[in-house]
Amino acid sequence: MKPSDVRRSAESVTSPLRVDGGRLWRSLMELASIGATPKGGVRRLALTDVDRQGRDLVVGWLKQTGSRVEIDGAGNIFATRPGRDPAASVVLTGSHIDTQPSGGKFDGNYGVLAGLEVLRTLNDSNVATEKPVGVAIWTNEEGSRFVPVMGGSGAFAGVFTLEHLRSQRDADGVSFGEALERIGYAGGAPVGKRALDAYFEAHIEQGPILEREDKTIGVVTGALGLRWYDCVWTGQDAHAGPTPMEARLDALRGASRFVEAVYALALRHAPEGRATVGVMHVSPNSRNVVPGRVSMTVDMRHPDDSSLAAMDAELRAASITIALELRLECELRQVDQVRASRFDASCIDAVRTATRMLGYPHREMVSGAGHDAIYVARVAPTSMIFVPCKDGISHNEIEDVRPEHLEAGANVLLHAVLARAGRSRAGN
Ligand SMILES: [Zn+2]
Repeated sequence: MKPSDVRRSAESVTSPLRVDGGRLWRSLMELASIGATPKGGVRRLALTDVDRQGRDLVVGWLKQTGSRVEIDGAGNIFATRPGRDPAASVVLTGSHIDTQPSGGKFDGNYGVLAGLEVLRTLNDSNVATEKPVGVAIWTNEEGSRFVPVMGGSGAFAGVFTLEHLRSQRDADGVSFGEALERIGYAGGAPVGKRALDAYFEAHIEQGPILEREDKTIGVVTGALGLRWYDCVWTGQDAHAGPTPMEARLDALRGASRFVEAVYALALRHAPEGRATVGVMHVSPNSRNVVPGRVSMTVDMRHPDDSSLAAMDAELRAASITIALELRLECELRQVDQVRASRFDASCIDAVRTATRMLGYPHREMVSGAGHDAIYVARVAPTSMIFVPCKDGISHNEIEDVRPEHLEAGANVLLHAVLARAGRSRAGN
């Protein structure tokens, strides 16, 4: 035996437990074949036949791990691997397997199959835990067939009622409840009322930061709060030729200044503050008419609710100042609000500690997108693990992730779960 071999075998005795990255990748590719699109993406809308096929496949895998599988009235699926302490609450992980109409292979699916890979790894290594370890599949996270988004986890967390969720209809008039029953996933377990010790969700970042900074793991500390606004600027239509400049009531001039004000206020709250004007309708939208009316939207986000409130105040002040200066009317109306989430400090720490122990380059970050974890965080200690995705692109068939990053994220998940669930001495 060479000295290097001795060192290697010594390492294998002391090195931390690892998932099987190849097996995780193969499972992801097999699930992605259900609803596969010609361009390499996935179309698996919630509660369709392909969703049932995907659920059947993953439920079969979960059952093969020896876990008990329960389904609740919202179609959420819970697989539980028992712990040694029968009174302990479950340490849960998971995500969703529904996709956007032209979605990718990894959004949601990764979090569920990383959880499955954790269960498989614990079994392979004969590791017992004090607390049970579970994997959840949440129904209709994407919200593309049925609104609200994050429907299953929202009902679980009591954000809205099961009745409300079941009564929602898709574009063809089919209700959530009918669709759920048709695919055979309207379960008998109560929605919510399930004590969780903790919830961890692994997910692709869906943004460019980790890739740009060459980091493998994002330790997610919370999610941005959000406010949506509709805004209408009203002046007066007038002929572009005869109307002198000083006599104009040009709604687009007001809207343009407002766009600049929106950017300026977001930059004052950078790097965490974000603001977007994504829609603008100019009326009458004619080359030789001074625009008399402009309607537009504003989307503002910040991880801290008090900063978001400050941004709101600045936005309103800007609309009033610009309207007065240009003698326009401005109607600014907030149409939606989601408060910021701060994840649980001990769960964040479990992710951070696992990442450091495994030696992965990482950074702390907040999620800019919605996730099931954001609703689960309202009822249980929660945090998330992000891995980079190519060019930060998701909700797109070209969504792509490097296998070694998926493996790294699953290893972090494994050790965060183990830290929380307590590795039982007698087990290994
Ligand atoms: Zn997702």
